Amino acid sequence: MIQHSIKFNQELEGWWCIIANHKVYLPEPSNNIPCGVFADLALPFTPPENVHEIGVFEGTTVYLLQITNDEFKQHEAEFFGFRTVLFDQPEKFEFVARAFQVDLFLTTHQFCGQCGNKMSLIDWELATLCKPCNHRCYPRISPCIIVAIRNKDKILLAQGVHHKPGQMSILAGFVESGETLEQAVHREVFEEVGIKVKNLKYFSSQPWPFPHSLMVGFTAEYDSGELVLCEKEILSADWFTVDSMPNTAPIQSIAGQLIAQTKRMMKLAQ
Ligand SMILES: [Zn+2]
Repeated sequence: MIQHSIKFNQELEGWWCIIANHKVYLPEPSNNIPCGVFADLALPFTPPENVHEIGVFEGTTVYLLQITNDEFKQHEAEFFGFRTVLFDQPEKFEFVARAFQVDLFLTTHQFCGQCGNKMSLIDWELATLCKPCNHRCYPRISPCIIVAIRNKDKILLAQGVHHKPGQMSILAGFVESGETLEQAVHREVFEEVGIKVKNLKYFSSQPWPFPHSLMVGFTAEYDSGELVLCEKEILSADWFTVDSMPNTAPIQSIAGQLIAQTKRMMKLAQ
């Protein structure tokens, strides 16, 4: 995978991911990720010494271009949250998520966590190295399971404390150290709503740059137990049929895709 730092020049051509404060630059009037030869785009930022190659999208290299906080403040109105990309240009979400995570890694790994010396960037893989003590760091990725639980023709939906009011979703939670993904599903479900599940099936995964999660999706079936909610995390939870569904996550998110898949199974079970 291409992911190294290269010397910047005005003739470089690519998609330019300009990221600051957990937002991405989507300039007027198109609100698109700038794409083209850097010199032709007349972007209002001072070119840095180096840029970072993130990958390739539609045959064109994707670059991360880091800017200063002052530059961000001057152009803040044209910076948008990553959900804007997910909903308006979903095909570009993956590389924007990646650019953000590389930016976050470079910003938060300047010094060694073991001895405090300055870290240097390794040029053949995305990692930083502390030469005095040999400590090496890679970008942080936090696996998080997300699971759609079905009981015949019903799905379990919950309103978490962090959800938008009126919106319900399936259960999710971070994997703990030393735990398998499957153990994390069983533990999270039991902790949050007090039930046991069975027949876990892997569904798919989605990078979720808020700030460095990797959502790993499963479907599962209800096994046993009554709903007992963890008040710290869950405001309400209940079983819903296809005809009684509340507002749920949009289809661009893995939660939305898991719910859509489970609805198909619910209809078959009716
Ligand atoms: Zn060190």
